[in-house]
Amino acid sequence: MKKTPPWSAPVGDVMRRLAKAIEGLEEPAVEKIAKDQQEDPFQVLIATLLSAQTKDAVTAAASGRLFRVARTPGTMAKLPVSRIEKLIYPVSFYRNKAVHVRRTCEQILSRYAGRVPSTMEELLTLPGVGRKTANLVLILAHASPDNICVDTHVHRIANRLGWVTTRTPEETEQALYRVTRRRWWPVINLYLVTWGQNVCRPVYPLCPQCVLVDICPKVGVTKVGKLVKNI
Ligand code: SF4
Repeated sequence: MKKTPPWSAPVGDVMRRLAKAIEGLEEPAVEKIAKDQQEDPFQVLIATLLSAQTKDAVTAAASGRLFRVARTPGTMAKLPVSRIEKLIYPVSFYRNKAVHVRRTCEQILSRYAGRVPSTMEELLTLPGVGRKTANLVLILAHASPDNICVDTHVHRIANRLGWVTTRTPEETEQALYRVTRRRWWPVINLYLVTWGQNVCRPVYPLCPQCVLVDICPKVGVTKVGKLVKNI
């Protein structure tokens, strides 16, 4: 394993502190849906597709409306795209996502016998599925120990912590495989996304209230937020 730079926060310390600190905080929407639906791969896949660039509360509500009408590839593939659009509105890019949902269902039925594929290569062939979605499905629905799911929160915080020096989530994913131990890979997304939504926010992170303040180099942080209660 490549050594992390000396100015970075120790990965093990960060992860152990965050494991405790996120207890009681709201979980990311897709993690919650995965637990509520017994890690059903199809629902994890569809919820993750809906979640891109969408607030968690909107993703959760839209997924709930869609799954109440159809919760299998067979039933969802029969819905007209216009109906899916109405059910998932107002998730961002709901028109594109409705098309991707419908085509993904059709391909799962025609090419994978109705089952969500369990390899990165196969998942990436589905419409609208990129590495972030594929990694989350592999981790949450197929219990993969080999993947790290990197979204904007993970990308931002991994850079602030000094773990990586990268420009894109894709670069961050590859760098994280080198600088973190495998035991953390499946939970990096859960820990950092939860922290990113509550404390290490995109603008004005709450550094004075952060459990990592004494070990975090705060790379790129110029202004911090005001004290917030209930964190
Ligand atoms: S909130 Fe501040 S101290 Fe905490 S991880 Fe983010 S940048 Fe580091």
